[in-house]
Amino acid sequence: MIPVSEPLLDERALAYVEEAVRSGWISSAGRFISEFERRWAEYCGVAHGVAVCNGTAALELAVEALQLPPGSEIILPSFTIISCVTAVLRAGCRPVLADCEADTWCLDMAEVARKIGERTRAVMPVHIYGHMAEMDSLMDLARRHGLAVIEDAAEAHGAEYRDRRAGGIGTMGCFSFYANKIVTTGEGGMIVTDDPNLAEQTRSLRNLCFRPDRRFWHSELGHNFRMTNLQAAIGLAQVERIEEHLVRKRRMAALYREGLRDVACLHLPVERLKVKNVYWMFAVVLDESVPFDAAVLAVRLREQGVDTRPFFVGMHEQPVFRERGLFTGERYPVTERISRRGLYLPSGLGLQESEIHAVCAALRNCLA
Ligand SMILES: *Cc1c(COP(=O)(O)O)cnc(C)c1O
Repeated sequence: MIPVSEPLLDERALAYVEEAVRSGWISSAGRFISEFERRWAEYCGVAHGVAVCNGTAALELAVEALQLPPGSEIILPSFTIISCVTAVLRAGCRPVLADCEADTWCLDMAEVARKIGERTRAVMPVHIYGHMAEMDSLMDLARRHGLAVIEDAAEAHGAEYRDRRAGGIGTMGCFSFYANKIVTTGEGGMIVTDDPNLAEQTRSLRNLCFRPDRRFWHSELGHNFRMTNLQAAIGLAQVERIEEHLVRKRRMAALYREGLRDVACLHLPVERLKVKNVYWMFAVVLDESVPFDAAVLAVRLREQGVDTRPFFVGMHEQPVFRERGLFTGERYPVTERISRRGLYLPSGLGLQESEIHAVCAALRNCLA
């Protein structure tokens, strides 16, 4: 079976982990934590990085750090992972959904503009599968309406929008370093920001809000969302090779594009002029002319030794939110269509050129 993804760990990661173990610094202090935070923030073009235990925690702390009054509305895409919505709900805010674009699968800014109301305080764009949301339009809307912008850049490490990197454009950027992400620490995440107050606030929230002036003395409720020095050791080794990994991702995408060029019933990922797509996953969407959906295609591909993953299911269709009376009767046509007709193909950094050819051949078979 050709896997969807596998992490590409190397001798350097092993050497750094060994150094961490030998030094005894295996919890959440040590040189790798501070070095990883510094390097990642610098890479994103911002001043501060706050490492946390996963990407979901990064989103939760980012929303919480805004200290919005209860009932404040945050606009986010219907096509995303549930972590985005749970982060909004856990901060006592109201999630307001907007549909995505049919070609980039990222938040549609015309939809966002329509959803902005009296109580809107923030927007959370999600850079889907390695392509970035339309940040110029969003930052313009944000400035005009005084909104904070929390970028979910979990899937877009190193992606660029007019020479600025994903996560470094909004008020805060959130990353996941889960095993299938471009830079991984196994489990891990980070918040990056240029705002020293938000950096301090998220730093405090991740570590139980210990007051700096007196140990075991608290005036706010925090969390333990710390990352370990062991994880950061793996992360630092990965950041040092990110450009090489991005070249690989883009090369794989070019090979897929070439191999699938004449398969007219498949919609391939796009790359807008202002954007550098890092193709975290090479995703495809079945045209309406195909008489079956992505779930059927996934079964057929699996029979031919090709593993895939389905697209997100719209947040407005989730039973957990329906039961709570959220998003009742709301429809998001693009999200509904691509969630049924999209899947992503093997895209791991260890994928061989011959395997890409094999995947393309299997797809042709299924769609012939
Ligand atoms: C992976 C991912 C997350 C969650 O990250 P975890 O580290 O798994 O908690 C959040 N948002 C997006 C878009 C993701 O792809």
